[in-house]
Amino acid sequence: MKLLDSIFDTAFRFLPHRSKTGLFPIGDPDRSSPVIVTGNYTLTVRRVSKALQGEDVWLLVTDSRGINVWCAAGGGHLTHHDVIAAVRTSQVADRVDHQELILPQLSATGVERNRVEEATGWHATWGPVHATDLPAFLRRGRHAVREERAVRFPMSDRLQMAVMWTAPMVPILWLILWAISGPLPAVVGAVAITAIVLGLFAGMPWLPLRTHRGLLVYGGLALAGFAFGAALFTAAGALTTRNLIVLAAACVVGTGIVSVDVAGSTPLLSSSVNPSDFRVELLVDRCTGAAQCVLVCPRDVLVMNGHVHKVEIVRPANCILCGACIVQCPEDALRFRFDDGRVVEPATIRRTRLNLLGKRTIDVT
Ligand code: SF4
Repeated sequence: MKLLDSIFDTAFRFLPHRSKTGLFPIGDPDRSSPVIVTGNYTLTVRRVSKALQGEDVWLLVTDSRGINVWCAAGGGHLTHHDVIAAVRTSQVADRVDHQELILPQLSATGVERNRVEEATGWHATWGPVHATDLPAFLRRGRHAVREERAVRFPMSDRLQMAVMWTAPMVPILWLILWAISGPLPAVVGAVAITAIVLGLFAGMPWLPLRTHRGLLVYGGLALAGFAFGAALFTAAGALTTRNLIVLAAACVVGTGIVSVDVAGSTPLLSSSVNPSDFRVELLVDRCTGAAQCVLVCPRDVLVMNGHVHKVEIVRPANCILCGACIVQCPEDALRFRFDDGRVVEPATIRRTRLNLLGKRTIDVT
């Protein structure tokens, strides 16, 4: 049953899957055990629980509307209001003798740590990006090393995302192709589209999707899928002009669908629908070295310079413009600046969240 649940959750992870909210024991926690916060996306809860097997902790599941932490926080569905509500309604204060929360790092675009601390009186620490690093984080005294603060997107995760894209798209396109042209072109078209999506995710870390060469990459993938499908038709003895036209249309449509915003479905790349003419700007005079931005940046863009006690932007090309650093800076020392000189102040970033087209239009105050 658990395997079936995992397959279903993986294939249909684009849909919200709500699990129960509240405080749940993992292992045999006592009054001194850590309290780890997560969102109520079923797959997340299952994976965090699995990663914490062998530990004795409390898991505080907040209402992220059944959406994973990264997407929920970025889209305004998981905010500090939800964490504050979870602390107040879960009776966690009756179960432990401390007031220490561990927040998921990927919630930093939406959960303002300062607001949680002010409203609850609890101290909040940022956990690592990946749940699998939680046991090591706990053993080190709630400290994440630099590698654990950055998003990794290994092949296994990328293939899962490929499944998420193909699960709804391929059957629909397959049905359309079947209705238009019969069973063989439908199967070949579906296989070609699946190969395109798999190739895209397999090569994602090396493909320049967010540069002016992105269009060329998508064109190349469509062409490769077409060539693969043509080879299948040849093997089946069905290489006809009609079948090739159907295959070409399937490859163009399939590639077009994933190209809309495949980058935005991962914390590795900035959303394709974001404008590309703005950057994170650091106002050095305002920086007091709190370094909250360093702790929440999922792309290892920022470092703390201990000599001058200031943060520095050292890997600007890695930035995915998520805004987490801006949201968490207690001194408002970071903001977005457009190439034409316009700036987006921290108050605006905190007040608004991204809609499905990557625009900051959703007001969460
Ligand atoms: S530096 Fe860029 S990637 Fe890092 S938190 Fe800030 S906006 Fe996000």
